[in-house]
Amino acid sequence: MIDLEKRTVPRRGLLGLSRDELAVWLRERGLPAMRARQLRRWLIVEGADSFAGMTDLPKALREELAEAFVPLETTVARHMQAADGTHKLLVRLQDGQLIECVLIQENDRRTACISTQVGCGMGCVFCASGLNGVERNLTAGEIIEQLLRLRAMPAAAAVTEKRLTNIVVMGMGEPLANLDALLEALQAATGKDGMGIGARHVTISTVGLPAKMRRLADLGKQYHLAVSLHAPSDALRTRIVPTNAKTGIAAILEAADYYFQKTGRQVTFEYVMLGGVNDSAADAEKLAGLLRGRCAHVNLIPFNDVSGLPDRGPSPEAVAAFQAIIRRRGVSVKVRKRKGAGIDAACGQLRRQES
Ligand code: SAH
Repeated sequence: MIDLEKRTVPRRGLLGLSRDELAVWLRERGLPAMRARQLRRWLIVEGADSFAGMTDLPKALREELAEAFVPLETTVARHMQAADGTHKLLVRLQDGQLIECVLIQENDRRTACISTQVGCGMGCVFCASGLNGVERNLTAGEIIEQLLRLRAMPAAAAVTEKRLTNIVVMGMGEPLANLDALLEALQAATGKDGMGIGARHVTISTVGLPAKMRRLADLGKQYHLAVSLHAPSDALRTRIVPTNAKTGIAAILEAADYYFQKTGRQVTFEYVMLGGVNDSAADAEKLAGLLRGRCAHVNLIPFNDVSGLPDRGPSPEAVAAFQAIIRRRGVSVKVRKRKGAGIDAACGQLRRQES
């Protein structure tokens, strides 16, 4: 038979293998398990981008690795930098799909905002990521690679840290719908032999999937949980967050309380303010009523315009009034600052321009 078309199957990234898979690969070649630790240390701690430079590995192994794998399997399709030191990357996966991640730098913080899925299946009406549904979950390796790519971006002049200090899982996708891969990636970020990021400096933002929130609570990790509430009543929430039809606010609040009981960590409730939709004084009163007495913090997020979507941001007066009401009722509240002006840093937007 004549080989008409020589297909080149892309080599897998080494981080695409779980620890166990890597151990098996090494064992099959008669190599000790400690090599797995060395290899992962080169990639995750040192940020190595070639096998050749892994000088404490035998040369033959380095050569064999280079034939079987690539150090990183994703590529940066586009890189944008804002004047405030924010970097946004459009990352191409091996199957050609595109995802986004962002590095936000201020004072002594370098925060990575990462994606967990290609697209999103939750369908929140104001969000660019979910406009075409979900394509697939990311692997743990694809999530870790976002962190490595962001860490390698130049540190802003005023920032003393070179490493990443914080992670917010607020990019594309619903993190709790891809919990296993996320947990494996976060282990690489926070665990012993990892990137040196404290678990308390990781925020996982969820649309509110109660069963998964409880599972996360039971793990005994110190991750900070943020819940996208966005409305104080089921009728309004179901209009803007369609998954609410099945879950309902009460079950989400109970799961958030459980999270606090188990972890001792205060839960944040995110509230995207949409002009004329959920930004009235009456909405603020109701929201305060729901959260009073809970160990909760409210993060108000003025809507970022998404081209093609009808929603508009709230007026500055509406934001100030809303915040004042919540505060007066004794609930802790902040307004999220906007970062990355000029580079469409709000999630899901860059990918839409490319596809
Ligand atoms: N699926 C997770 C992570 C999503 S992104 C979740 O729902 O929480 C993190 C936050 O950004 C969420 O609160 C989301 O509702 C919000 N968000 C999405 N699009 C936005 C936009 N255009 N303007 C402001 N906030 C937005």
